[in-house]
Amino acid sequence: MAVLKIRTLPDPVLRRKAKKVTKIDGSIQKLIDDMIDTMHAAPGVGLAAPQIGVSLRVAVIELPGEELITLINPAIIKKQGERIVAEACLSVPGYQGEIKRAVTVKVKAQDRQGREIRLKGEELLAHALEHELDHLNGILYIDHIESPDKLWKLTQQL
Ligand code: ZN
Repeated sequence: MAVLKIRTLPDPVLRRKAKKVTKIDGSIQKLIDDMIDTMHAAPGVGLAAPQIGVSLRVAVIELPGEELITLINPAIIKKQGERIVAEACLSVPGYQGEIKRAVTVKVKAQDRQGREIRLKGEELLAHALEHELDHLNGILYIDHIESPDKLWKLTQQL
Protein backbone atom coordinates (compact mmCIF):
# COMPACT_ATOMS: atom_id res chain seq x y z
CA MET A 1 0.00 0.00 0.00
CA ALA A 2 1.32 3.40 -0.88
CA VAL A 3 0.35 7.01 -1.24
CA LEU A 4 1.05 8.00 -4.82
CA LYS A 5 1.46 11.34 -6.49
CA ILE A 6 -1.78 12.73 -7.87
CA ARG A 7 -1.45 13.76 -11.50
CA THR A 8 -2.62 17.26 -12.29
CA LEU A 9 -3.31 19.18 -15.47
CA PRO A 10 -1.80 19.22 -18.07
CA ASP A 11 -0.71 15.59 -17.54
CA PRO A 12 -1.92 13.77 -20.69
CA VAL A 13 -2.94 10.65 -18.74
CA LEU A 14 -5.91 12.67 -17.45
CA ARG A 15 -7.14 13.10 -21.00
CA ARG A 16 -6.82 9.49 -22.12
CA LYS A 17 -9.81 7.15 -22.29
CA ALA A 18 -8.94 4.49 -19.70
CA LYS A 19 -8.85 0.81 -20.68
CA LYS A 20 -11.23 -1.82 -19.45
CA VAL A 21 -9.90 -4.15 -16.73
CA THR A 22 -9.99 -7.65 -18.19
CA LYS A 23 -8.54 -9.57 -15.25
CA ILE A 24 -8.91 -8.62 -11.60
CA ASP A 25 -5.57 -9.96 -10.42
CA GLY A 26 -3.04 -9.03 -7.73
CA SER A 27 -1.89 -5.96 -9.62
CA ILE A 28 -5.44 -4.62 -9.66
CA GLN A 29 -5.83 -5.32 -5.92
CA LYS A 30 -2.61 -3.38 -5.29
CA LEU A 31 -3.80 -0.57 -7.54
CA ILE A 32 -7.06 -0.33 -5.56
CA ASP A 33 -5.20 -0.30 -2.21
CA ASP A 34 -2.87 2.42 -3.46
CA MET A 35 -5.83 4.45 -4.73
CA ILE A 36 -7.57 4.19 -1.35
CA ASP A 37 -4.40 5.29 0.48
CA THR A 38 -3.88 8.16 -1.94
CA MET A 39 -7.52 9.27 -1.65
CA HIS A 40 -7.32 9.22 2.16
CA ALA A 41 -4.04 11.13 2.21
CA ALA A 42 -5.23 13.85 -0.20
CA PRO A 43 -7.85 13.93 1.43
CA GLY A 44 -10.56 13.39 -1.13
CA VAL A 45 -13.94 11.70 -1.49
CA GLY A 46 -13.11 9.94 -4.74
CA LEU A 47 -10.24 8.99 -6.99
CA ALA A 48 -9.98 7.47 -10.45
CA ALA A 49 -6.98 5.40 -11.58
CA PRO A 50 -5.86 7.90 -14.26
CA GLN A 51 -5.31 10.40 -11.44
CA ILE A 52 -2.39 8.28 -10.24
CA GLY A 53 -1.18 7.72 -13.80
CA VAL A 54 -2.84 4.35 -14.47
CA SER A 55 -5.12 4.37 -17.51
CA LEU A 56 -7.52 1.66 -16.33
CA ARG A 57 -11.25 1.79 -15.57
CA VAL A 58 -11.06 1.73 -11.76
CA ALA A 59 -12.45 4.28 -9.30
CA VAL A 60 -12.91 4.53 -5.55
CA ILE A 61 -15.40 6.71 -3.69
CA GLU A 62 -15.75 7.32 0.02
CA LEU A 63 -18.17 9.96 1.17
CA PRO A 64 -17.96 11.19 4.77
CA GLY A 65 -19.51 8.60 7.08
CA GLU A 66 -20.29 6.22 4.22
CA GLU A 67 -18.88 2.90 3.14
CA LEU A 68 -16.01 2.80 0.69
CA ILE A 69 -17.08 1.91 -2.84
CA THR A 70 -14.72 0.31 -5.34
CA LEU A 71 -15.82 0.36 -8.97
CA ILE A 72 -14.18 -1.64 -11.73
CA ASN A 73 -15.34 -1.05 -15.31
CA PRO A 74 -18.24 1.14 -14.16
CA ALA A 75 -20.89 2.38 -16.55
CA ILE A 76 -23.79 4.76 -16.03
CA ILE A 77 -27.04 3.03 -16.94
CA LYS A 78 -29.44 5.81 -16.00
CA LYS A 79 -29.35 9.47 -15.03
CA GLN A 80 -32.22 11.58 -13.79
CA GLY A 81 -32.75 15.19 -12.97
CA GLU A 82 -30.47 18.13 -13.08
CA ARG A 83 -28.96 20.38 -10.47
CA ILE A 84 -26.20 22.93 -10.18
CA VAL A 85 -23.27 21.89 -8.01
CA ALA A 86 -19.98 23.39 -6.97
CA GLU A 87 -17.22 21.07 -7.97
CA ALA A 88 -13.49 20.72 -7.50
CA CYS A 89 -10.96 18.08 -8.44
CA LEU A 90 -7.64 16.94 -6.96
CA SER A 91 -6.22 17.02 -10.49
CA VAL A 92 -7.20 20.66 -10.99
CA PRO A 93 -5.81 22.14 -7.78
CA GLY A 94 -6.75 25.63 -6.69
CA TYR A 95 -9.98 25.93 -8.65
CA GLN A 96 -13.66 25.41 -8.13
CA GLY A 97 -16.49 25.66 -10.59
CA GLU A 98 -20.21 25.44 -10.99
CA ILE A 99 -21.65 22.83 -13.33
CA LYS A 100 -24.79 20.79 -13.92
CA ARG A 101 -24.95 17.26 -12.60
CA ALA A 102 -27.73 14.70 -12.39
CA VAL A 103 -29.77 14.26 -9.21
CA THR A 104 -29.76 10.46 -9.37
CA VAL A 105 -27.36 8.17 -11.19
CA LYS A 106 -27.54 4.40 -11.59
CA VAL A 107 -24.28 2.60 -12.21
CA LYS A 108 -23.29 -0.97 -12.91
CA ALA A 109 -19.76 -2.13 -12.26
CA GLN A 110 -17.71 -4.93 -10.80
CA ASP A 111 -16.46 -4.88 -7.22
CA ARG A 112 -12.92 -5.88 -6.29
CA GLN A 113 -13.95 -9.53 -6.10
CA GLY A 114 -15.21 -9.30 -9.68
CA ARG A 115 -18.87 -9.56 -8.74
CA GLU A 116 -21.32 -7.51 -10.72
CA ILE A 117 -22.82 -4.72 -8.65
CA ARG A 118 -25.46 -2.09 -9.32
CA LEU A 119 -25.87 1.00 -7.27
CA LYS A 120 -28.02 4.06 -7.24
CA GLY A 121 -26.59 7.33 -6.06
CA GLU A 122 -28.50 10.42 -5.08
CA GLU A 123 -27.24 13.96 -4.58
CA LEU A 124 -23.63 13.81 -3.36
CA LEU A 125 -23.09 10.17 -4.38
CA ALA A 126 -24.60 10.81 -7.82
CA HIS A 127 -22.27 13.76 -8.14
CA ALA A 128 -19.21 11.71 -7.14
CA LEU A 129 -20.16 8.86 -9.48
CA GLU A 130 -20.45 11.20 -12.46
CA HIS A 131 -17.20 12.96 -11.58
CA GLU A 132 -15.15 9.75 -11.20
CA LEU A 133 -16.66 8.06 -14.25
CA ASP A 134 -15.87 11.15 -16.31
CA HIS A 135 -12.20 10.71 -15.33
CA LEU A 136 -12.23 7.26 -16.94
CA ASN A 137 -13.24 8.89 -20.22
CA GLY A 138 -10.62 11.64 -20.05
CA ILE A 139 -13.20 14.23 -19.04
CA LEU A 140 -12.67 16.78 -16.27
CA TYR A 141 -15.36 18.85 -14.58
CA ILE A 142 -13.93 22.00 -16.18
CA ASP A 143 -15.10 20.60 -19.54
CA HIS A 144 -18.68 21.05 -18.30
CA ILE A 145 -18.22 24.69 -17.33
CA GLU A 146 -20.62 26.76 -19.39
CA SER A 147 -18.99 30.17 -19.09
CA PRO A 148 -15.67 31.48 -17.70
CA ASP A 149 -17.38 33.22 -14.78
CA LYS A 150 -18.48 29.78 -13.52
CA LEU A 151 -14.89 28.83 -12.73
CA TRP A 152 -12.95 30.58 -10.03
CA LYS A 153 -9.61 30.39 -8.31
CA LEU A 154 -9.70 29.45 -4.67
CA THR A 155 -7.93 31.86 -2.39
CA GLN A 156 -7.47 29.04 0.11
CA GLN A 157 -6.72 25.42 -0.70
CA LEU A 158 -9.65 23.18 0.18
ZN1 ZN B 1 -11.51 14.62 -10.17
